[in-house]
Amino acid sequence: MASNEWTSSSWRSKSLSQPVQYPDDQHLESVLKKIEKLPPLVHPSEIERLKHQISQVQRNEAFILHAGDCAESFEACTHENITAKIGLILSFSLVLVWGARLPIVRIGRIAGQYAKPRSSNTEKIGDREVPSFRGDNVNGLEPDDRIPNPERLLSAYFYSATTLNYIRGLLTSDFASLNHPADWSLSHVRSPHLKQEFTKIVNGLTDALDFTRTIGVATPASYEKGGGRGVLGEVDFYSSHEGLMLGYEQSLTRDLPDPTTNVRSPTIPRPDSAQTENARASTAPHNTSPSTAPYNTSAHFLWIGDRTRQIDGAHVEYFRGIKNPIGVKVGPSMEERELVRLLDILNPDKEAGRITLITRYGYNKIEAHLPAHIKAIQASGHPVAWVCDPMHGNTQTSSTGHKTRHFTNIVTELLSALSIHSSHSSVLNGVSLEFTGEVELETGFSVTECLGGSMELGEEELGLRYATACDPRLNFEQSLDLAFLVADYLKK
Ligand code: PEP
Ligand code: MN
Repeated sequence: MASNEWTSSSWRSKSLSQPVQYPDDQHLESVLKKIEKLPPLVHPSEIERLKHQISQVQRNEAFILHAGDCAESFEACTHENITAKIGLILSFSLVLVWGARLPIVRIGRIAGQYAKPRSSNTEKIGDREVPSFRGDNVNGLEPDDRIPNPERLLSAYFYSATTLNYIRGLLTSDFASLNHPADWSLSHVRSPHLKQEFTKIVNGLTDALDFTRTIGVATPASYEKGGGRGVLGEVDFYSSHEGLMLGYEQSLTRDLPDPTTNVRSPTIPRPDSAQTENARASTAPHNTSPSTAPYNTSAHFLWIGDRTRQIDGAHVEYFRGIKNPIGVKVGPSMEERELVRLLDILNPDKEAGRITLITRYGYNKIEAHLPAHIKAIQASGHPVAWVCDPMHGNTQTSSTGHKTRHFTNIVTELLSALSIHSSHSSVLNGVSLEFTGEVELETGFSVTECLGGSMELGEEELGLRYATACDPRLNFEQSLDLAFLVADYLKK
């Protein structure tokens, strides 16, 4: 094999960041072989449709909402949780549509977001030092369940399939219909102000829908040329996760027909045609089958994390060959030249819709890094969608010992991103958030993981319903607070 020839396994000869040590490599390989035989979770036509929509985002014709859990857990794969998560994503995007007057491309951190990169191989729990929790597809959260078990990868496949199946059901049912936004778990929002604001938008939208129906205009749910039903139902919705566990990603990478390649429709000669047999033969299609391309069929969109984006590393090698649209996390340690080199490798043909840059500097570092990154990309001519992740640079530990984030810092980074882009002849194209609509079943109360917001969540309340399997997430109310803030900004 030539040294730069890509295959779905060429990453194996490169140095791998965040490796997982399994007790038995044979066991791992036999599990991966099983996954290789299982059907794809998503289809190339959905993947290409997302890429097309991201190319519209890159032309500032749409806006990305990328959101969900830091880490999904197998245990949280329930009817209630999935409904609440989708409900929040729909509510948030509705507020954004209202503010930005732009279509929203919804990409959930869902149906596969199990693996986590960790800064240390071990962590302290009580007075024990145990191997770090690496995500439900690697080991267990319980301190006694930290030995990596490859069977968890197979479980991850089935949990992803189950989640996606239920999302597909929800989105083709009445639940996702723009006629029923009030069902999207607003019932547990306690703030009268938030409820009122959201209801105002819903009423406005219902009026608009009634009006278009009255005058007989069909409103296609999709804004892609041709309209029609969106991916996964009435509204478009896509799945995503960090492409961290390359063995798993490889086993779901398949050579499949690329729906964007030209398929010539067969020319059927008319019976009365005076064409000779020869002439007929020359107008017949020579090849009607589209060419194939390697698609990662575990999710529509995958991203490379800030800890695994080394130019010569295994993750970049794997990502450069797949056809999916991909995200690249960009933190304060990324140098301008490195960023451009990375994109030269990941998108040598400068294909539109392929690259989304997800910046995550921290509210007090963004000013020092984002302007130079914007200028470097502008000079390079690479088409990118700029998305702000105001979560990962703003993690702190509370005096109560909880990993948390303050709402004010999140908002500050987001507002800085919006204004830095506009003062550098650029546009912020989306947001990437860790949030959840998940509530405690018995009480209906939201999780308490991030500080502040209109509910003014204090440090002493963090322990009440701190349920995350990894990083702290905004709860339903805090997320809507943020949605209104961004919508207000985009309205201007
Ligand atoms: C994440 O998105 O959960 C994550 C770990 O992000 P980053 O790679 O930017 O730290
Ligand atoms: Mn996270």
